[in-house]
Amino acid sequence: MFLTERQEKIIDIVKKHGPITGEHIAKKLNLTRATLRPDLSILTRSGILEARPRVGYSYNGNSSLIKLANQLHKIRVRDFKSLPVVVGENTTVYNAAVKMFTEDVGTLFVVDQKGNLQGVISRKDLLKTTLGNNKDVQQLPVNVIMTRMPNIITTTNDETVYLAAKKIVDHEVDALPVVRTFIDSQGVEHFEVVGRVTKTNLAKILVELGEGK
Ligand code: ADP
Repeated sequence: MFLTERQEKIIDIVKKHGPITGEHIAKKLNLTRATLRPDLSILTRSGILEARPRVGYSYNGNSSLIKLANQLHKIRVRDFKSLPVVVGENTTVYNAAVKMFTEDVGTLFVVDQKGNLQGVISRKDLLKTTLGNNKDVQQLPVNVIMTRMPNIITTTNDETVYLAAKKIVDHEVDALPVVRTFIDSQGVEHFEVVGRVTKTNLAKILVELGEGK
């Protein structure tokens, strides 16, 4: 939002002296109350200033940012995740590439027979393998080239969109598997894949927040 010089001055006065009446703001600027009326109206409608009858104007500039931050800490992964696209550990690199095209995704999760997370395959993992003059992509299983557990960054249904986005940014990955953790009768921890969070999911949330949804 573009603010005029006079609107910036009004904000400064309200920040310093608020709550302050329109009359007093006008006096400080050597202007009439009537001249200021359109500016004050713009600043209150945009939420930068709050006007309370008989009290005056106070500074409210950060409230919409705080609301946005609150939203980002309220929305949970379960509310916006996508279905996971998975392949078995013995799937060939060739078939994994085909699956990326047919499912229209950039990341595949590699699972064992019980659906537990073993690894991740990205577009560049496949590119690297094919550019590396690997002639046997029709035979090579993905578990030879995948990034494997325990080095996979995961999220859970209960995590917030903020935390999931932070993991994606901090670890420079495009997607996170959503997992449900459980311990089997032998005391071994497993990560069942129950979803997928990608940069596209996050972009969609931004669009919805931008539309006030
Ligand atoms: P690309 O490399 O195709 O741009 P990514 O940035 O997601 O896609 O992947 C970069 C590297 O990180 C790849 O080697 C991939 O196997 C690995 N990777 C992708 N997602 C994850 C994840 N959630 N946790 C750990 N490693 C990942």
